[in-house]
Amino acid sequence: MKAAVMKDRRKMVIEETPAPKAGPGEVVLKMKYVGICGSDLHLYTTGLVPPDTIMGHECAGIVAEVGDGVEGWKIGDRVGIHGGLYCGKCFWCRRGQTNLCREVGGIGLGDMPGGYAEYLKVFPSMLLPVPEKMRLRDVALLDPFSTAFHAVRLSGFQIADTVLIMGAGPIGLCALQQLKLAGAKVVCVTERVEARARAAKAFGADLVLDPTDDVSGKLADLTDGVGVDFVFECVGIPDTTQEAFNLVRRAGKVVLVGVCMDLATVHPVLWVINEISMQATIGFVREDLLSSMKQIEKGVLRTDGLVTETISIEQLPDAFERLLSPNNEIKVLVEFAD
Ligand SMILES: [Zn+2]
Ligand SMILES: [Zn+2]
Repeated sequence: MKAAVMKDRRKMVIEETPAPKAGPGEVVLKMKYVGICGSDLHLYTTGLVPPDTIMGHECAGIVAEVGDGVEGWKIGDRVGIHGGLYCGKCFWCRRGQTNLCREVGGIGLGDMPGGYAEYLKVFPSMLLPVPEKMRLRDVALLDPFSTAFHAVRLSGFQIADTVLIMGAGPIGLCALQQLKLAGAKVVCVTERVEARARAAKAFGADLVLDPTDDVSGKLADLTDGVGVDFVFECVGIPDTTQEAFNLVRRAGKVVLVGVCMDLATVHPVLWVINEISMQATIGFVREDLLSSMKQIEKGVLRTDGLVTETISIEQLPDAFERLLSPNNEIKVLVEFAD
């Protein structure tokens, strides 16, 4: 089969590799769609995956082979993947916080081969049944939708609250939709990239600003001088992480969704005298995935407009290089030929 294999930092090559076989208790999927995730780009530039890793965790496919002892799945079933592996036994797993389990990893992150390949081997516990009405290409978008769902769920957001979302990447745009759906009074979005700003407008943002605008002044205008109740930071760089705490109202809450890998300088005194709360969030659990899936199936979430480009597996190495420079993409999907 064809696979996009990481050889080194910023070195991905398309190779012919043996297709996986389903052993006892395993299932092999024929891949149909896989999304390029920001975390893949991070692993690509830092080289934080072992050589010969096949990345890709935002997968949608069709069951192609079922190993001995697997029940409930058959060849031809359309499926999504919850790619995170967890032990099911630790303190966090027992509380349903499987995204915080440190016992095991996930597919496409160096632990198990991922979906940048024509076939993918998984455990049946990772499979999500896809409702008949749902398009498989939308299944590959569940990762950002579920991440946003998880973040909104943990935030304590309530109907009629006001929100600023920093960053209209896939997760920011999904959070925007979730928050509007949940009854936000005002959702303002800051975004530098024009195509993403346009998408934010199309997805119902009340106001879209360039981050260099007078954001704080405009937020005050929108909220009777009070400021927003919540800031969702969906960029993950030091500047925006710091700025989030300056933009939220006194006694408001900052929700960190973006994963900032660099040191950020903060002034705790500003949090203290303003009694600002913070909720950090990472990934999602299976229930977030299933809830997002239900929303997409019912048509209450829009998936059109998120995918800005569909490529073939052969185009992956080029796409990764291209996505490192400023660009107008939102979500790039790999589509596999039948
Ligand atoms: Zn992802
Ligand atoms: Zn665990």
